[in-house]
Amino acid sequence: MITRRDLLKRMAGAAAMTAAAALAPNVAFARSFLPEPQEAQTFQDDIVWDKAPCRFCGVGCGLLIGVRNGRAVAVKGDPDSPVNKGLACVKGYHSILALYGEDRFKTAYVRRNGQLEPVPVQEALDLVAQKMQETIDSHGKDAVAIYGSGQWTIPDGYVAIKLFKGLIGTNNVEANARLCMASAVTGFLTTFGLDEPMGNYADIDHADVFVLWGNNMAEMHPVLFSRMLEQRRLRPHVQIIDLATRTTRTSVAADRSILMAPQSDLAIANAICYEIVRNGWVAEEFVRQHVAFKQGKTHIGYGLEDHFAFNDEMTDITYDQFVAYLQDYTPEKVSALSGVSVEDIQFLAALYGDPNKRVTSFWCMGVNQHVRGTWMNNLIYNIHLLTGKIAEPGNSPFSLTGQPSACGTVREVGTLTQALPGGPVTSEAARQQAAEIWGVPVENIPDKPTYHTVEMFRALDRGDIRFIWIQVTNPMVSLPKLNRYREGALKEDRFVVVSDVYPTPTTDVADVILPSAMWIEREGFFGNSERRTQHWNKMVEPPGEAMSDTWQLIQVARRLGYEQWFPWSEEEHIQAIWEEYRRFHANPKHNMAPYEELKRRPGVMWPFVDGKETLWRYNARYDPVAAEHADDFYFYGKPDGKAWLIFRPYEPPAEVPDQEYPFWLSTGRVLEHWHTGSMTRRVPVLHRAMPHAYVELHPDDARELGIRDGDLVRVISRRGAVTLPARLNFRGIPARRQVFVPFFDEAMLINEATIDAFCPISKEPDYKKCAVRIERVAP
Ligand code: SF4
Repeated sequence: MITRRDLLKRMAGAAAMTAAAALAPNVAFARSFLPEPQEAQTFQDDIVWDKAPCRFCGVGCGLLIGVRNGRAVAVKGDPDSPVNKGLACVKGYHSILALYGEDRFKTAYVRRNGQLEPVPVQEALDLVAQKMQETIDSHGKDAVAIYGSGQWTIPDGYVAIKLFKGLIGTNNVEANARLCMASAVTGFLTTFGLDEPMGNYADIDHADVFVLWGNNMAEMHPVLFSRMLEQRRLRPHVQIIDLATRTTRTSVAADRSILMAPQSDLAIANAICYEIVRNGWVAEEFVRQHVAFKQGKTHIGYGLEDHFAFNDEMTDITYDQFVAYLQDYTPEKVSALSGVSVEDIQFLAALYGDPNKRVTSFWCMGVNQHVRGTWMNNLIYNIHLLTGKIAEPGNSPFSLTGQPSACGTVREVGTLTQALPGGPVTSEAARQQAAEIWGVPVENIPDKPTYHTVEMFRALDRGDIRFIWIQVTNPMVSLPKLNRYREGALKEDRFVVVSDVYPTPTTDVADVILPSAMWIEREGFFGNSERRTQHWNKMVEPPGEAMSDTWQLIQVARRLGYEQWFPWSEEEHIQAIWEEYRRFHANPKHNMAPYEELKRRPGVMWPFVDGKETLWRYNARYDPVAAEHADDFYFYGKPDGKAWLIFRPYEPPAEVPDQEYPFWLSTGRVLEHWHTGSMTRRVPVLHRAMPHAYVELHPDDARELGIRDGDLVRVISRRGAVTLPARLNFRGIPARRQVFVPFFDEAMLINEATIDAFCPISKEPDYKKCAVRIERVAP
């Protein structure tokens, strides 16, 4: 049997996709499917095109997929998509090749005597249902769990939550989006009372200034970054400011790159507010009308221990108290903490404070994967609220998401332990609504959250959870402090089911592997960062017995005796699910577009009211709900119609470098690879461009340690160690005493070294800050 390592070696020389400009400009053809030159024209004539959102990041670019003879053969950016206007990045153009890796799962596998053996899918589904029922009977319903992702389609997530929360009666539903944007959710909920951005990508066309908070958009949101660069070309006064802990491609393209010490963003945001107040740049009328001042608890911990619990409490403060708290954040004090010059802090404040400049702030993992991630989200909103630069074109605090449906599935459907589609599980109204739509007694739906993601895998390790079903994600690469959670999954009496398309370190720990249909091999919906829901049709057949995760869940639900709740035919179930799910959001604050509308258009933003998208929420000019209450703005997520400006202080991270572990470690992604690389590493051109992980060091640190470019080094933390090649002056350059490692490479598992500290409010881990030492490996 071919190993994953052998496969990757072979792929380095395999056929790739090519931009076949001679055939058609702006179209990428899969070279392996290309015809002889004399057949080129008929080849093109035979291609049938259909739209689909890209599945490789949260930007949600619209693609057109060319299908010929039952295979996806070409890709182009959809010129009708308002997201990307015909553009795509290297992952989007090569996305179809991820369907055709030679080691796709085509049948199910069951572990017998320690070995995974192929079995028919129906037999594997029988076993999954049997093990679920046995676990519930002997250990209770909270001993079974499902762990999905922001790549779950909306129907996948909806069926999972209906089965687990509505019918089995456990809140053990989580998704890997907990690891990437839970802090954005709690940031929105605490400040505005409702999740997701008020603006949309058209903000890019109106902003004069972009401030990027720890956000390497050139690699992580490349099409949006291109749109920003294009705006700067068209309107030369436009400025892009990169505020980050390392120099990246984004820094190089920015008008000013400002480097800050890890965790000091909390203090910098407060210093910006200090300067806005000191200079009289507060939008006084806006603040008086639309802002309430609050503070929460402090010294809130890091969640390092099992069963950690925290509940925030808000108290009212006055504007004057808020200003008094800011006195600890003078530019001079914050400069000493952050390493950012007083001049740069004042420069940032002046950009936000200038009444003639429209400012959009973008952020993503740098802010969210943070032990005070919720606080950082609050603090960026504070700046926009103080200056009144919010909820209108170009004035936009814009939280970007990483995955194609972290918003559509995880946040809107509510595939997190504390959530239901219509609100938190603690809300009687949300439970009543779910019970009515699902046709179950309200008592079926538990009123308390159980385990967030880190605690879910701790519970699996402890034995509180005995059965876990993992779909569309690869936690045995992506969880922090990985050694503990892998050992937990491998313990006796744990039953792990994994639905995936390729072998991964997570399928390595599985008792059952179910082969999944991928992306355009089934019908689905995603929801991107700007509240846009996008539908696609099934375009090609999945290989072998592979089926969609939605259909796998329905099959198991029926085996558990829940057929009447999942009565739909295979042909029509996606439409039926959409129509049922839409009922949860049937109000003008969140109304979703009808199925036919979504089929027809390249995505529709919600709230969709009277046949129109709501472009800027809370602004009476655009939002009919706000217009019912005010002439200008109305923040209807809060009972008093005001946004909450919440004072949050600086607090240190969970672990800081010391003599033994003198370097900061930050982890992240690279342009070519999607998350853990299980799909993009099977695309030859992407694999060739970035074949393995590496550790970036500052050249002066490397010199002191006697390390040269390409040398093997060990990155060692208190939790684990990994050996990687060093890279100097490569993609990025970390600041002194910092290193960066991408996490896509399963052969170099950097998450064995990371820490499982998390934001106590969002429960999102901090992948950007822990302490390590670096050792050169003897040649
Ligand atoms: S920017 Fe994101 S959504 Fe757009 S083509 Fe690239 S990976 Fe796909």
